[in-house]
Amino acid sequence: MATFEELGLEENILQGIQEMGFEHPTPIQQEVVPLILTEKTDLVALAQTGTGKTAAFGLPVLQNIDRSQQAPQALILSPTRELCMQIAGELKNYGKYLKNLKVVALYGGEPIVKQFKLLNTPPQVIAATPGRLLDMIRRKKISLETIDFLVLDEADEMLNMGFTEDINQILESVSEDRQTLLFSATMPKAVARIARNYMQNPHEITVGAKNSGSDNVTHEYYMVQARNRYLALKRIVDIHPDIYGIIFCRTRQETKDVAEKLMHDGYNADALHGDLSQAQRDTVMNKFRVRNLQLLVATDVASRGLDVNDLTHIINYNLPDDVESYTHRSGRTGRADKKGTSIAIVHQREKYRIRDIERVIKKEFEKKPVPNGEEVCRTQLFHFVDRIENAEVQPEIEPFMAEISEKLANMDTEALIRNVVGLEFTRLLDYYKNAPNLNVPDRRNDRDRRDRNDRSNRRDRNDRRNRGGRRGVDNAVRLYMNMGAKQGLRPAKLLGMINDATGDKSIEVQGIDVMKSFAFFEVSEHHAEQIIEGFQQEFGHKNIEVERAQDSSSRNRSRDYSSDRRGGGRKDRDRKSRRKRR
Ligand code: AMP
Repeated sequence: MATFEELGLEENILQGIQEMGFEHPTPIQQEVVPLILTEKTDLVALAQTGTGKTAAFGLPVLQNIDRSQQAPQALILSPTRELCMQIAGELKNYGKYLKNLKVVALYGGEPIVKQFKLLNTPPQVIAATPGRLLDMIRRKKISLETIDFLVLDEADEMLNMGFTEDINQILESVSEDRQTLLFSATMPKAVARIARNYMQNPHEITVGAKNSGSDNVTHEYYMVQARNRYLALKRIVDIHPDIYGIIFCRTRQETKDVAEKLMHDGYNADALHGDLSQAQRDTVMNKFRVRNLQLLVATDVASRGLDVNDLTHIINYNLPDDVESYTHRSGRTGRADKKGTSIAIVHQREKYRIRDIERVIKKEFEKKPVPNGEEVCRTQLFHFVDRIENAEVQPEIEPFMAEISEKLANMDTEALIRNVVGLEFTRLLDYYKNAPNLNVPDRRNDRDRRDRNDRSNRRDRNDRRNRGGRRGVDNAVRLYMNMGAKQGLRPAKLLGMINDATGDKSIEVQGIDVMKSFAFFEVSEHHAEQIIEGFQQEFGHKNIEVERAQDSSSRNRSRDYSSDRRGGGRKDRDRKSRRKRR
């Protein structure tokens, strides 16, 4: 098998690759890296995502740029903000040990002025979306005269999204002396036209799709309240006693938390995330590879280098931010002709994200009910019974058998079985004795049920209004949130976020004060931790946090925070803040 050393990459880059956990170059890397390192040729590559194409162009480009020059030398255009950020992130990782390397990402959807700062010291590598780049050029913040490498990534997608004109303009404004590398999953006429008009005798290659396992993977989702995610995860794992899988989390913190809880609860699990040293990561990965570990809780980035072919399940503890990451995750199961299942744990408001994924992967998810305690116990018991039936017992037990049989002679078979099975399952049976139903109605699938529930919900709401409305929240504590009007926060949005974070619409909220860049609100003491924790899980990856206000007793709030109040007198504010949540 080929190695990265053989491709002609320098030591500093090899070190970056090694840290990413890549062991061998993919076919496209084997072909493209040496070509771009040694020849100044244009390239058209038919390659899909997941083939390792980013490293295929990224590695030789990084090696070829002159880092002593502070001028843009490589430009990578891609269709979306996510892809653009991903490319920049990946190149930074590969170039971690390249001194004076500067890689920036320029994309729409974020104030352009904020991105000006990135250009104060000119970067050598720019990953950009076409629209934002043109905007920068028009504002004379950037010039493309010094570009040596122009990469068009996912060219077909860019043209599909209507960037043809923008791309033509950009291609016109880059020095003709550049090397152009075009990557596309398909080759429609529009892409071929770009190749014909703007490239010189391009070298052409086609790379087969990496096994994304698409035909072998079944997609399922479980819908629960956000605060029940962990409980649902345990049930899912328990109902699949032979599971061998990766549980994907969004942040390092979430990864650590989930793994710790699982280990504490007696599961054979461990965590893989970026805070671990390389040696620690290797140990965990090896344990998992040889199946000494049943469940690996991981972030997308940390699990990249891990190649395991026989995973039974992928669990999305939280869905990733983009569909592409979902396909990467799910493509880790159903490999090598085996069947696999990709599971997502979602709450009601994430239903549309399932639809988004379905559109891209062109497959439907199956909605599964979260199993109840009895179902879990039944599955586990029968799995155990099967194991007893099919156990291959070591011959070393023979010398003890006569004595054991004698000791148990006065027990009938049924009593014996009951004791053996009962001993093994005391904890499980006890845990699931009064296990609550974790299912929540799914708006589309369960419309009938929703109609039925609506009436009783309305009754509940009225009850709540009567209880909380006048007197306000009992034992109120004041919470601080690091997001405010400038970030688009409004009282209604805040209430919606609390719903999302807790999955509990019955929590009373009062005293909402939305300031410029932060906000306060009050809830009863016994909901405070639930909300703080819920925010960490739901929005932590966006750095949105809730914590107790420094003086969190609600009585002092007008004195403490009055200086930053915007508009509206006290009366108005209180009227607004007492609004009930629906
Ligand atoms: P791409 O096709 O560039 O979107 O890459 C797909 C995924 O494969 C990314 O997560 C890369 O980090 C990862 N990857 C790229 N090259 C390798 C490699 N040689 N070995 C293992 N993973 C890789």
